[in-house]
Amino acid sequence: MAARLGGVIDERHKAQYRELRAADLVNRCTARPMPFGYTVNPYRGCSTGCVYCYARYTHDFLGHNDPHEFERTIYVKRVDGATLRRSLERARRSGMLVAVGTATDPYQAGEGGFEVTRSLLEAVRTLPGIRLSITTKGTLVTRDLDLLRAIAERSELSVNFSVTTTDTELARLLEPRAPRPDLRLAAMQRLAEAGVATRLFMMPVLPYLTDDAASIGALLRAARAAGAREAECNLLFLREGVREFFFRFLGERFPALVARYRALYCSSAYVPPAFARTVEARFARLAGANGLAGRRRADRPDEQDPPARQLTLAW
Ligand code: SF4
Repeated sequence: MAARLGGVIDERHKAQYRELRAADLVNRCTARPMPFGYTVNPYRGCSTGCVYCYARYTHDFLGHNDPHEFERTIYVKRVDGATLRRSLERARRSGMLVAVGTATDPYQAGEGGFEVTRSLLEAVRTLPGIRLSITTKGTLVTRDLDLLRAIAERSELSVNFSVTTTDTELARLLEPRAPRPDLRLAAMQRLAEAGVATRLFMMPVLPYLTDDAASIGALLRAARAAGAREAECNLLFLREGVREFFFRFLGERFPALVARYRALYCSSAYVPPAFARTVEARFARLAGANGLAGRRRADRPDEQDPPARQLTLAW
């Protein structure tokens, strides 16, 4: 890995950007029970800086032990066009879904200048029949509306907007450099009006902060109004490397919740199954009431089958 790390190529938005000469941009993912067969993460690290981000620990592999480095030192992947095309052709032949943004946001701030995601979409556009999903909090996705529209005409495409709350103040605490929730929903609406299928990803749902019926219902209504066709949720997952970071945040901003969270996450990175089932049932009921197809309970791995969606960080 060290041989592939390049020098500093830019500094902006309080982040330093470094080049990473990637062997490939499209990675095979064999973990169960993921709904995709390939992942693409154009960047390592993410300047958005969400306090709950489960990918923070991955910067350890690059020698960054301070969890803040995940949002301050961003690696921009570079791969040659021929390799990218070959990989995408292989993914198309497989018939499996290519998921963009499983670990870091493909439309984080740096994409405005580096355009790695846009280059990927330009290649995808030439390969009709490929199956693609994109997950993002970034309103920059609307920059690529021309490409997305063209891809959607000849391929399967879904853009998943990650929004955790309609409460702007809460969102600013949780996701300090993400666009405001209403702006994300406005971006969703632009895509939906252009004929691109969109989904709401309420991931994560935060116990005692966003898991009540009023919060979930408000978000689902807003997503429906913005043209979402489906909605999915996942409860907060706190693996090592993120757990203490999140608890420090909680202690500073929501000290009254620390003991309740310690109790919820005392024996596992997941909330207890019964707690998860209650929130998921609430979400499914409210999604249905708002005319949205909700994620099925069976899609959620249980304690016996732990490789949850959030663990899939193929690079
Ligand atoms: S936008 Fe996604 S990848 Fe980026 S910090 Fe937030 S949760 Fe992590």
